[in-house]
Amino acid sequence: MNPIRYVSTRGAQAPLAFKDAVMTGLARDGGLLIPTRIPDVSGKLEEWKDLDYPDLAFEIIRLFTDDLPGDRLRELIERAYSTFAHPDVAPVRKVGGIHILELFHGPTLAFKDIALQFLGRLFEEILEERQGRLNILAATSGDTGSAAICGVRGQERIHIFVMHPHGRVSPLQERQMTSVLDANVFNLAVKGSFDDCQLIMKTLFSDLPFKDAHALGTVNSVNWARVLSQIVYYFYAAFRVFEETGAAHLQFSVPTGNFGDILAGWYAKQMGLPVRRLILATNENDILARFFNTGVYAKGQVVPTVNPSMDIQVASNFERWLYYKAGQDPRKVARLMTQFAMEGRMEIPRDAKGLVDREIVAGASDTKHTLDTIKRYHEKFNYLLDPHTAAGVFVAEQYNELDDPMVCLATAHPAKFPDAIEDATGQDIARHPMLDALKNAKTRCEVIDNSAEAVKTYLAARAR
Ligand SMILES: *Cc1c(COP(=O)(O)O)cnc(C)c1O
Repeated sequence: MNPIRYVSTRGAQAPLAFKDAVMTGLARDGGLLIPTRIPDVSGKLEEWKDLDYPDLAFEIIRLFTDDLPGDRLRELIERAYSTFAHPDVAPVRKVGGIHILELFHGPTLAFKDIALQFLGRLFEEILEERQGRLNILAATSGDTGSAAICGVRGQERIHIFVMHPHGRVSPLQERQMTSVLDANVFNLAVKGSFDDCQLIMKTLFSDLPFKDAHALGTVNSVNWARVLSQIVYYFYAAFRVFEETGAAHLQFSVPTGNFGDILAGWYAKQMGLPVRRLILATNENDILARFFNTGVYAKGQVVPTVNPSMDIQVASNFERWLYYKAGQDPRKVARLMTQFAMEGRMEIPRDAKGLVDREIVAGASDTKHTLDTIKRYHEKFNYLLDPHTAAGVFVAEQYNELDDPMVCLATAHPAKFPDAIEDATGQDIARHPMLDALKNAKTRCEVIDNSAEAVKTYLAARAR
């Protein structure tokens, strides 16, 4: 069979092998990289169903990475997932009538570790082989920053620069980042908002001479390796649930922001995993929920919520899904994305496959419903949901009309959001020893002006 290559959703990028796709991140034409084919593994499910997490990850990831030798890939995966505190990496727990897929046992207690522990080691492998270097620039409002830092800390060939809005991320999340003292980690507190940080990112990345001179790279979920590594846990969870229930199909509910996580589930379904449907949950920032109910994708204002990692209006990975719905026609995608950039709005015909067969259904949970759900699960089942997971559970309950088992993805440990838990339950009970230990940790962080020039100067002086 032909090797898998990676092409842009907008069509103007020569096909890339996997390693080049990882180093490129965003395609040069502004599109996202997608595989030239999606392997069908429906004949493998029986053989794979008892594999442990790293072995299953190896079987799935290697189908997309034919320029990476098998023994190297296996070692990367082993090392990435040995940092997880739970022996199953991603355990599934029955709580009431649903199954909770716990994705928060990594070193920063959010599901982003699953992808970023792998991506960090993958970067290291590729840079070692090419004798290269990389300067990662990231903007974060919370979880991404600490998971990215943790994925590359201490690495010889990488420097990482993470911007967060000064005084506007939770103190806990700030400490998770600034307490990492490795010499290759640079935390920047920008005197501005998260949007300002993102604007600085954009400015530096669109300065191509600067970008090339400093080998600038990204770790956000436009990077294909992040989506790829997340496909694994959909299979892993399905095998556990099929074994426990005897069912042959299932559904997943996914708390969604940038659409990376649920997109991985969509790929798992295309590969032959018997997923009846995917349930997309948003908070008050509900552009995606509105789209899946009306076919209209229209930008609104971002409002802050109790589940900040879902506070996103423009979901970067949506373009990958759109590509398949637009008949894999990059001209159509480019036209729709241009229209969206200009008008803040686009419309997909209701008869596009997927809107009609409802393989993804969507709903929103507001603060009240999210906190209610946390309280209910705590009282009834003595189980603490973090506010992102709780939004997913609430929306899943609204769609509880099929007999297939329901798996709700738990994307963060509740101890990352102690205030929301206290608001919901009236008790200060969301704790984790790793976070408690941060209280007295030494920290390092540079406060910097809200200006692209300031960040550019800082970065140029400290770039690898
Ligand atoms: C990033 C994040 C999400 C959203 O995931 P996407 O892949 O961006 O849709 C949900 N919950 C938590 C806790 C997160 O950190």
